[in-house]
Amino acid sequence: ASSLHWFRDDLRLADNPALSAAVAHGPTLFLYILDEGGSRRPLGGASRWWLSRSLAALASALEAKGSELVLMRGDPAAILPRVVETSGVDLVTWSRRYDAPSMALDSRLKADLTAAGTRVESFNAALLNEPWQVATKTGDPMKVFTPYWRAARAVGEPAAPMPAPRRMASLPLPAALAAMAVSHAELALEPTRPDWAGGLRETWTPGEAGAAARLSEFLAGPLDGYGEGRDRPDRVATSRLSPHLRFGEIGPRQIWHATRSAIESGDASAGSSDVEKFLSEVGWREFSYHLLFYNPDLATENFNRRFDAFPWRRDEPALERWQRGLTGYPIVDAGLRELWTTGWMHNRVRMITASFLIKHLLIDWRQGEDWFWDTLVDADPANNAAGWQWVAGSGADASPYYRIFNPVTQGLKFDTAGRYVRRWVPEIAGLDDSLIHEPWKADAGALRRAGIALGETYPRPIVDLDLGRKRALDALAMTRSED
Ligand code: FAD
Repeated sequence: ASSLHWFRDDLRLADNPALSAAVAHGPTLFLYILDEGGSRRPLGGASRWWLSRSLAALASALEAKGSELVLMRGDPAAILPRVVETSGVDLVTWSRRYDAPSMALDSRLKADLTAAGTRVESFNAALLNEPWQVATKTGDPMKVFTPYWRAARAVGEPAAPMPAPRRMASLPLPAALAAMAVSHAELALEPTRPDWAGGLRETWTPGEAGAAARLSEFLAGPLDGYGEGRDRPDRVATSRLSPHLRFGEIGPRQIWHATRSAIESGDASAGSSDVEKFLSEVGWREFSYHLLFYNPDLATENFNRRFDAFPWRRDEPALERWQRGLTGYPIVDAGLRELWTTGWMHNRVRMITASFLIKHLLIDWRQGEDWFWDTLVDADPANNAAGWQWVAGSGADASPYYRIFNPVTQGLKFDTAGRYVRRWVPEIAGLDDSLIHEPWKADAGALRRAGIALGETYPRPIVDLDLGRKRALDALAMTRSED
C-alpha cells in the first residue's frame, strides 16, 4: 500500500489529519501543485511571496524527516490522475477548501480518481467546524455572528490537535514522471525586478515553525490585555497569525487548545475576557468561511442586493492616492503604507482605510478588496471579502453604511500619541501630538518647525471630511429611495 498527500492550504505537518492518514497507510508521495490557471482566483503578489517561503519551509521540514516535497505546476485535474496512475498509490488524501472553484475541482477529482479505483479521503484542517455543521434551528445558514458563535460553541470542544507523524516513509516520484517536477526556483513566486519584498522578509517567518513561535510569543505576552489592546495599532497587541492561518501553517484547533492550556498551566496570565475575545476573533474567521460557503460570490457580489444600485464613483486618481498612502489623512496613509511595506495592516486601520475609500471617496468596495487581495500576505478568500462587505454595510451582520469612521477621531482615540502615524508617515513626524492627526490645522510656524510644506512634502486632504460624509449619506439615501 502507498499513498499521496496533496498539499494545498495546509502547509504543515502537525494537526494535519489528511497527512497523518496518508502516512499511516504506507510510503507517501508528498505533492504540491502550483495552479495558476482555471477559474480559481490567482494569488496576489504578497501571497505568492508568502507561498514561496512557506513551501521552502515545508520542504525543509519534510527533508528533516527523510522525506521529499515534490513540486509541480499546472492544472491539477490533468496532473493528479496521471501521478496517481503512474505511481500506483491506492490512497489520495487532502484537506478541504471552501471557495467554489476549488470545491468544484476537488469533487471532480474525487469522482475521477474513485472511478479509476483509487480511494480518496478529505479532511478538515482549516476550521473548528465545517461550514455546514453550524445552522439555525430551522437548518438554515446563519447570518448574524453572535448566534453563529453561540451555535458553533454548542457543537462541542474542538478535537485535540494531532502531533506531526513521528516517522514518515517517502514514496519517490517515479522516474517516468521526473520531467513533470519543477524546482522551487522554477515556480518563480518571488518578485525580482523590482524586488519589493524587503519589508516582508524583515517582518515575517513563513512556515510551521514561524507560526508556532508567533503563537507562543502571543500567549506569553499580548494575550494579557488583548480585549483592549487589540484596537491599538501603535502596539504589538494581536497575534499576527493571520497569514500563517491563511496558508494552513497552523490550524484553529491548535490555537484553541494552546490558548486553553497556556491559561490552565499558568504560562499565560490573561483574564477570561481576553481569552474569550481572542477565541471569538478566531470565530469571526469561522463565520467568514460559513458565509463564503453559502455565498460563493462573496468577493464580487453584494451580500445585501440593495447595494447593487449604489452610485459608486469611478475615480482612478483618488484610488491611486489611497493605494499609495497619499490621501492627506495621516492614519489612512499610515495604514496603506504599512500594508505596502509589510504585507499586513492592523485590523482597526483596515476598518478605517476601508471606510475612507468606500464612504469619503465613494469608491466601490470591490476596488479596495482587490488592492488588499494583491498586497496582503494574509489575503483570504473568506475574510477579505467579508471584511470589505462588513465595512461597506453590504455584508451579513455588517456595520451599517451610515456609520462612517472619522479618521481624525479614530486616530486620536486609537493612536493617541501618534506613534503609529510617525512610524509610517515620517515626513510629518515633527508635528506635535495635538496636530499629528490633522496636519492641515497646523499654522505656518508649526509647519515650518516640523519641516513640512503642506501640498508638497505631504498632501493636503484629498476630500473634506464633512463634504465626503454628506455625499456618502446622500448616495445611501438615493439607493434607499430606489427600492
Ligand atoms: P488577531 O487579533 O490576533 O486574531 C486572531 C485571528 O482571528 C486572526 O489571525 C484571524 O484569522 C482571525 N480574525 C481576527 N479578526 C478577524 C476579523 N475581523 N474577521 C475575520 N477573522 C478575524 N483577515 C484575514 O485573515 N485576511 C484578509 O484578507 C482580511 N481582510 C480584511 C479586510 C478588511 C477590510 C477588514 C476590516 C478585515 C480583514 N481581515 C482579514 C480581518 C482582520 O483584520 C485580520 O484577520 C487581523 O487583522 C489579522 O491580525 P492578527 O492575526 O494579529 O489578528
